[in-house]
Amino acid sequence: MLSNNPEFQELLLLHGRDRRYGKLEEELKLLPDDIKRMEKKILTENESIDLAVSEWKQLESQNNSLEKEIIEIGEKISKSKVRQLGVKKNEEYQALENEISSLTLLQSQKEDEQIEVLVNIDDAKATAEIAQDKIVSKVKDLERQKQGFEDRIAQVKTELQDLHKEIETARTQVEAEMLKTYDRVKKVVARAPYLAPLKDQKCSGCNLRVSNDVISTALVEQKLTQCDQCGRIVYVER
Ligand SMILES: [Zn+2]
Repeated sequence: MLSNNPEFQELLLLHGRDRRYGKLEEELKLLPDDIKRMEKKILTENESIDLAVSEWKQLESQNNSLEKEIIEIGEKISKSKVRQLGVKKNEEYQALENEISSLTLLQSQKEDEQIEVLVNIDDAKATAEIAQDKIVSKVKDLERQKQGFEDRIAQVKTELQDLHKEIETARTQVEAEMLKTYDRVKKVVARAPYLAPLKDQKCSGCNLRVSNDVISTALVEQKLTQCDQCGRIVYVER
């Protein structure tokens, strides 16, 4: 069998390394997308923290302006009361009395409003803190995954370098004519494998039936031969 031929076995070895090289190259091409995907997720998580925090901050500033308004109303009430002490006419006194009572009503409305805002602040603060805790650990996990992809890039690059050397060595071991044919096939066939065992008279690379000539060359003459459909080198396995 051709597959028992030591020279052909060298070719099989080279093919195995070439395939591994191709797979690693593919992986290397996809890894930056994985990193980008992680970065996008991290950004989304951080934005949701910002959202929760900004809702809380907004309520805080609402509370501050209510506080200011309540103080201002209080000052107006005090002033009116002082003026009330100085007036002689009953009508003026009454007018001030009306002003004071409507200001007092307004003040108590604002105070009710403030109480509601304060309750909402407590809720928003709790929500923001929970969101922060949860998201911070989620982000940490995403950062870890991102780091994993970055590490993998470095690892694949090293593996490719090592494999490149191994391929160079393997190429020196393959018989010259075989190597020529193999390199030609690699150019013609778009995707690995470049070597395909025959199964039930079919090329396992393209799954099509090969001609009887191909079968007889592979099986009887035990020479290097190619699938007449896809051009891959075909052989009979032990
Ligand atoms: Zn084929």
